[in-house]
Amino acid sequence: MKSLLKLTNVNSYYGKIRALNNLSLEINEGEIVALLGSNGAGKSTTLKTISGLVKPKSGEIEWNGQSLVGVPPHKIVESGIIHVPEGRRIFGGLTITENLELGAFTFRKNKKWVREGIERSFDLFPRLKERAKQPAGTLSGGEQQMLAISRGLMGDPKLLMLDEPSMGLAPIIVQEIMRIIKEINKQGTTILLIEQNAKAALRLANRGYLIEIGNIIMHDTADVLRMDDKIIKAYLGA
Ligand code: ATP
Repeated sequence: MKSLLKLTNVNSYYGKIRALNNLSLEINEGEIVALLGSNGAGKSTTLKTISGLVKPKSGEIEWNGQSLVGVPPHKIVESGIIHVPEGRRIFGGLTITENLELGAFTFRKNKKWVREGIERSFDLFPRLKERAKQPAGTLSGGEQQMLAISRGLMGDPKLLMLDEPSMGLAPIIVQEIMRIIKEINKQGTTILLIEQNAKAALRLANRGYLIEIGNIIMHDTADVLRMDDKIIKAYLGA
């Protein structure tokens, strides 16, 4: 297995508050890796640190063997790491198509690529196709999440990082989104998935990391984590 992304002893702060404490994790090409943990554990900060929005105070982040520390966020996007943040952040006044076009800003001169990317999104999410000319603000929560994921795909990610795609959605929509994340992975995109819905995440992922107050306290294959007492008690609601 080829290592794609490797964090070693990463420390990230907000002012004096240490949000990541010697955090190390690794993602191999082709995997779906779940990052689990409760509110405030440091999951979003991990993604923000990888995408360059939070600069680590110390530690190393290697992407395809190159250091990402100090690289500006737009360069990180261009290198193939796309972050779909929590809360979707779509542009409600723009149509679905316009939102997708914005996701392709790195390719804005390549009209053919943009057109094909939009077609690919519509194949994955037919609901978006039916609503292509509708303002994105009129979409349901689940559809907005689909749009946020599609917009991320428009940047042609090698690694797609999803921050709580299931948040606030009905179980049936969560299932649909998880199925499509699997499909995106099958088509060749590596995925780092943040989830409070540990059950859904561990069903999908190959491996998982459990984070508590900025520390990775456990990591293993999803099959092992699903059977772990601590995980079951704290996160699988047994
Ligand atoms: P959630 O699921 O609730 O978003 P999380 O695991 O993603 O939780 P983070 O958002 O990474 O957690 O937060 C980690 C810690 O850093 C928390 O203690 C949080 O209060 C703090 N924190 C996060 N963002 C900021 C910020 N912009 N300024 C100051 N502290 C912050």
